[in-house]
Amino acid sequence: MRKLAETCEAIASTTKKLQKTTIVADYLKSCSSDEAAVSVVFLSGRPFPAWEEATLQVGGALLWRVVEELSGKVAPALNTAYRKHGDLGSVAAEVLPGRTVKDLNVVEVSAGFRQIAKARGAAAKTILVREMLELATPLEAKYIVKIMTGDLRIGLKESLVEEAIAKAYGSTLAAVQRANMLLGDIGETLRLAVESRLAEAKMRMFHPLGFMLASPIESAEEGLSYFAEAAVEDKYDGIRAQAHVSGGEVKFFSRTRDEITESFPELPDALAGLARDAILDGEIVAWECPGRARPFSVLQQRLGRKKVSERMLREIPVAYLVFDVLYAGGELLIDRPLRERGRILDELLAKDRTHHGDTEARRKTGMQGKLAFGDEQGGSAGSVIRAPVFHANSPEQLEELFAAAQARGNEGLMIKGLASPYSPGKRGKSWLKMKRELATLDVVVTAVEYGHGKRVGVLSDYTFAVWDANKDKLVNIGKAYSGLTDVEIADMTKWFLDHTIEDQGFRRTVEPKIVLEVAFNNMMESDRHESGYALRFPRIVRLRPDKSADDADTIERAREIYEKQTNS
Ligand code: AMP
Repeated sequence: MRKLAETCEAIASTTKKLQKTTIVADYLKSCSSDEAAVSVVFLSGRPFPAWEEATLQVGGALLWRVVEELSGKVAPALNTAYRKHGDLGSVAAEVLPGRTVKDLNVVEVSAGFRQIAKARGAAAKTILVREMLELATPLEAKYIVKIMTGDLRIGLKESLVEEAIAKAYGSTLAAVQRANMLLGDIGETLRLAVESRLAEAKMRMFHPLGFMLASPIESAEEGLSYFAEAAVEDKYDGIRAQAHVSGGEVKFFSRTRDEITESFPELPDALAGLARDAILDGEIVAWECPGRARPFSVLQQRLGRKKVSERMLREIPVAYLVFDVLYAGGELLIDRPLRERGRILDELLAKDRTHHGDTEARRKTGMQGKLAFGDEQGGSAGSVIRAPVFHANSPEQLEELFAAAQARGNEGLMIKGLASPYSPGKRGKSWLKMKRELATLDVVVTAVEYGHGKRVGVLSDYTFAVWDANKDKLVNIGKAYSGLTDVEIADMTKWFLDHTIEDQGFRRTVEPKIVLEVAFNNMMESDRHESGYALRFPRIVRLRPDKSADDADTIERAREIYEKQTNS
């Protein structure tokens, strides 16, 4: 662990990507393959491989208490250190006593993380975290804590770790990327690279693949400027889900690759009847019969529950609107163009009741798709629906579709290149999103304050940030008060109290984990916030529990919005 921590320090000390990958490659070559395999997971900022569901469930507050206890320092000294570094790992390095203990191996640290994940309850976890940090030198503790909080902040993205693997073991970057994409496990990818067996990597059912992402566009003209032929779909306001269906078993995974099947107990049955094994991509929405998606706020009431009551199932039925297929009947389809994937998906979901040809008629009646499987009467069985596909050849047609999508209560449109492959985990120009607001940003809450008036006693004022250009640091860009419901504010208050990093009385620095979508009227250059920008009339559109901090926008995106606005 000492060697890994020193390597991390060296990586942090340079901004040059090439130098960073060389440092990582040299480090990997100096390790055994067991050590290298866990190290690449850690270097990607994770305690466990991406596909695994294991989570440590160790919050910043728990870590803070352990660091406080082991250092023998009291809160003000820790607060000062936190203000200086803005990162709990660096605080640990500064305040923990130096010790000469036996060398802690990365493989042991990995085993320790697994024990912590398995332990039930904060007390049991605290003991294990304390034991691990007691064995660590301050520098090792710095990186153990950073890995536990899921953020190394050394300017090293997983893509650079992939480059380092390619460099260390003489493989091509494309082969490493593909294996990692299929396995969702950079450690296993490394093992294959060591043995020159990357080509043997196989997609595995029930290991979620990365999701293809969309880029925002500002105008209908732009929407048709990147490819010759476009498929246009409504942009549904729900949560993205990847369904794995095999041998009658069905699981759903969220964008953060967590399994979410439990929240939607009515959906697996609806898909279990598929004729072939498959991996589908789509959006789960609250559904109103016949054929209409309800607002996200309705669906939200069903999210994050372990047990969904009969009443919930009845009152807020959901539908899975499927728009892509990544695998079917033994074949990985991601390299096939969307045009072909769409056809395969049509066939896969085609039962006699599924009829996908009459999109024009449906558009006129406001119906959003016909049932492929499920309960036509809107009972407690879930529905699986092939998302209708439209076509537009001119900006005018696109505007018309946009207005129709909005009239149906949807967020806007998705415009997809018909010739494009499915690129897991990538945000490119093959999928475009056209949304209602002039501009919105996905931001991370960094600090919260108590409100005024009827919001006294609840944490309702949020300071939020976007990533800097290297994505290793969050920079504040604004503050917002309005937009959430009282219930949401109450829930968030509880979360923020449990995940406070520094309590300054009226204000709390909190773990940067909560993602909000904020809308605003325009943007100004300003030195009020670290980002150099400020937002005019920012309002919270909604919480984004489906996104992790990593998915939040960067300063580059803010700059783009700013420049577009000043040029228009
Ligand atoms: P955003 O969340 O604003 O970045 O927009 C992208 C998200 O829109 C995706 O991750 C999906 O969850 C969602 N979405 C809704 N409808 C579609 C669709 N037809 N195709 C792809 N994504 C969609």
